[in-house]
Amino acid sequence: MMIQPVHDFQMCDECGKNVAKIWRVHKGHKFCSTCYARVFIRRMCPKCGNFARLPKNDASAVCLSCQVDKPCARCGATDYSIGRITQYGPVCTSCAPYFRQQKPCEICGGLSSKLTRVSRFDHDKRVCQKCARSDHGNCGACHRHRLLETSPDGRWLCHACLTVGEIPCPECNQPMPAGRKKRCESCYWKGLLKKRIAMDCAGFSVPAMALHFSNFGGWLGENVGTHKAAITLHRYLPFFLEIEKQWQSIPEYAILLKHVGTSGLRKVLLPMKWMQEAGLVVVDAGAKAEDSDQRRVAVTLEKFKTGTAQRAILDGYHDQLLTAKKKGKTTWRSIRLAMTPAAALLLHAAAKEVCPPDQKALDTYLGKTPGQRAAVSGFVVYLRDSHIVNISIAPSSNKDKRAKKKRLENKLLRLLAENDQSKSSRLKLLAVAMAYFHGVAQKDITGKVMESLVAADDGDGSVLKANGQAYWLPGKFQLKPFLTPSNAWTY
Ligand SMILES: [Zn+2]
Ligand SMILES: [Zn+2]
Ligand SMILES: [Zn+2]
Ligand SMILES: [Zn+2]
Ligand SMILES: [Zn+2]
Ligand SMILES: [Zn+2]
Repeated sequence: MMIQPVHDFQMCDECGKNVAKIWRVHKGHKFCSTCYARVFIRRMCPKCGNFARLPKNDASAVCLSCQVDKPCARCGATDYSIGRITQYGPVCTSCAPYFRQQKPCEICGGLSSKLTRVSRFDHDKRVCQKCARSDHGNCGACHRHRLLETSPDGRWLCHACLTVGEIPCPECNQPMPAGRKKRCESCYWKGLLKKRIAMDCAGFSVPAMALHFSNFGGWLGENVGTHKAAITLHRYLPFFLEIEKQWQSIPEYAILLKHVGTSGLRKVLLPMKWMQEAGLVVVDAGAKAEDSDQRRVAVTLEKFKTGTAQRAILDGYHDQLLTAKKKGKTTWRSIRLAMTPAAALLLHAAAKEVCPPDQKALDTYLGKTPGQRAAVSGFVVYLRDSHIVNISIAPSSNKDKRAKKKRLENKLLRLLAENDQSKSSRLKLLAVAMAYFHGVAQKDITGKVMESLVAADDGDGSVLKANGQAYWLPGKFQLKPFLTPSNAWTY
């Protein structure tokens, strides 16, 4: 049986016969010559008024010249030579390959509608775009994607860089690889940054804000380099636009901080740094710290889900602290320092399925973290008063007291050995000595208290007035040089 080469024949979509030649394709529908003669009749083109053969069953059909009098259906070009008439309309020669049927690349087998033969290669296989550019890469000198050749020193270079070497940059006159042609890399990034600044500035309606942004862009280029600045500039635009929307100009630091928050501040560190350097804002460290404390208190509260018993207790304590804050009796820092051990105690008790925390929970908690004794005391009072829990902080045991005394003694010995004559060190020594000998809190010993130090009447030791009381101290504390360890205990 003889096999007909099928691909030589195509089917007419009108009559269904296989024919050697398709006479006309109209909107993707193929016509054989017979059907063409029957269906297409001579009539006036509804668009240009000229006579042409048009299908009788499609009243909207236009003549061929009208059909192609449209922009390229793919790229939209208006002034072009027709590459192909597709079912979507005419396309230009550059776009035409995309409407070809995809065929496998003869090297890699990948489907492509743009197979080509490459004269550089020592074969005449039809290859895809990727295989066609397999001998391309980034030039080792100008960094552009080019056809590469190996240089004598082993680098892969583009033709210009290999044969010409370096030329002066037409913009800045510095030597640059010849492959860069119009400008060196540094001039390129500088130009791009300038372009991007101008583009982003168009987004502002307040001219002063556009100027701010433009100044910031210039500053950014100087600080992080024009390359990085050009790439990252755009991400700061929303921040400036937000400022424009809220205040129309750069507000005071505290207001800005309240709006973005300490955590939000990290994302806009560079604009904030620029504002400070340009003198547009003055950083208020207090405001920053207070904001940070507030946020940490919020995080502490979030350790417990809303609706849990622990959260209700903690919320109540928080409210009580806020009331004190409103009366000016406490600070955000103190609130944070009070909330942290309160939450820790609640967590500690919750682990033993106790809520509110009882005496046992408190004792074991303090056993693990003795340093929180003072910090948690406010919360213990709150639990006793507002939640009727029979709970209290036991006075420090004798063991604790002995340990404390030992710590003070070691510190005193160390300070005496150091024998530092600076005022701050002498004050510290006095404070530790008062705590060691008389149990007076170290914070009560101020510079003023130190001035009251006099030699005792009988010439033995010194007398110091603190908290309205006179205290005797061994040795000659006010005299220089200070006590040395050898004579420190001669009382
Ligand atoms: Zn037909
Ligand atoms: Zn026409
Ligand atoms: Zn096109
Ligand atoms: Zn390929
Ligand atoms: Zn240059
Ligand atoms: Zn190059």
